[in-house]
Amino acid sequence: MSKLMISISGIRGVVGDGLTPQVIVNFAQAFGSYVGSGKVVVGRDSRVTGPMVKHAVFSGLMAVGCDIVDIGICPTPTVQMAVEHLKARGGIAITASHNPIQWNALKLIDASGLFLNEAQGKKVIQMAEQNHFQNVAWNQVGKIESNDEAIEHHINSILKLDLIEPERIASQKFKVVVDCVNGAGGTILPQLLDKLGCEAIFINEEVTGLFPRAPEPLPENLKELGKKVKAIKADIGFAVDPDVDRLAIVSEKGEPLGEEYTLALVANYVLQRNSGPVVVNASGSQVIDDIAAKYGTEVIRTKVGEIFVAQKMKEVKAAIGGEGNGGVILPELHLGRDAMVGIVLVLQQLALAGGSIAELHASLPQYFQSKNKIELPDLNVSSVLDEIIKKYQNQKIDLTDGVKILWQNQWVQIRPSNTEPIIRIYSEARTVEEANALSFELIAELEKIIKKN
Ligand code: MG
Repeated sequence: MSKLMISISGIRGVVGDGLTPQVIVNFAQAFGSYVGSGKVVVGRDSRVTGPMVKHAVFSGLMAVGCDIVDIGICPTPTVQMAVEHLKARGGIAITASHNPIQWNALKLIDASGLFLNEAQGKKVIQMAEQNHFQNVAWNQVGKIESNDEAIEHHINSILKLDLIEPERIASQKFKVVVDCVNGAGGTILPQLLDKLGCEAIFINEEVTGLFPRAPEPLPENLKELGKKVKAIKADIGFAVDPDVDRLAIVSEKGEPLGEEYTLALVANYVLQRNSGPVVVNASGSQVIDDIAAKYGTEVIRTKVGEIFVAQKMKEVKAAIGGEGNGGVILPELHLGRDAMVGIVLVLQQLALAGGSIAELHASLPQYFQSKNKIELPDLNVSSVLDEIIKKYQNQKIDLTDGVKILWQNQWVQIRPSNTEPIIRIYSEARTVEEANALSFELIAELEKIIKKN
């Protein structure tokens, strides 16, 4: 993997080996010139390299005449919401999300609080590559202003939602365990759960950026959380990633429900109350289709990537949407993935349902995914995919992202990576065994095609 990756959503790299102050300043100058002089909101996650990256970002932005609103350490969705609320020209979230500790990144946000789309992102990259900046004179260099109200505004905006009844949640006196992986979650979740009358027990809530485990909230990384939930007989466990846009749930039995079920549980509640389609990416579980069908609404699928989902949600006036990796997007709050709103919507539903989270989960259709990858030698990927399409031409095929072949209760998706010479093979079925079998069938087919070429 290259140690500096430039994409429409920003730049990402290993600090000291690709992600240097020079690169960061250059990109910040390009972004600042693109949005025009004016207010730009900057926030960051808790990574130890955050202060270095932040000061380079400040320097680049100020040099092109942008005034910085520094909202400090906070979740990425808090930066997005602050941009919108403060009517800024744009924003930068300094975070490498769930990437390991040596990484950091800039995520670029436009004036509406959405991540840059393809056209906007390409323009900024071009400006960075061509050093196409408007550096300003000494008396027009930007200023820095600190703002410590963004987190409070985020919390209050969630508690004011029509879908949420804070008193009803508080009446349940939920006992909740939260694992923040020492990321930015510790800046907001204690206050939020306190306002909901929960007895909240935190693990890894120090905002140090020293991740005590792999930071992605995958089931295999949630063992400590599961043990704690069981040991203290909590009602539920929550895990978030370092920049708090992904949410995973652990049942009262200490078992992770799998990230696909975060959005499934939330959709199951929101669709009872609000009408409109559901928007998810092409890799999301079929459980979403089953839930949408129950409420008589449709599911629209997009390419993988938060901005594709968010843009489509805006276009079709979706009721709910997001990504199967624990990314919940509630449009009436904000068009971005937000673990905070996910937590509150799950607690609201739990308060209404009266049973346990394991019971609520068991009431939904059960699907299992198998995620695999194979290496792709120097070959024409699209000709490989064409052969697969031909082989399965009698099945339903979806080409939204890669090639997805669908049967009644199972599917398999083949997606070449944009950054590595690999093909990802994801499958889903009613049992783990069926999902694995489906992946292995496709891997065998792909290997046959690759060998032949
Ligand atoms: Mg993240």
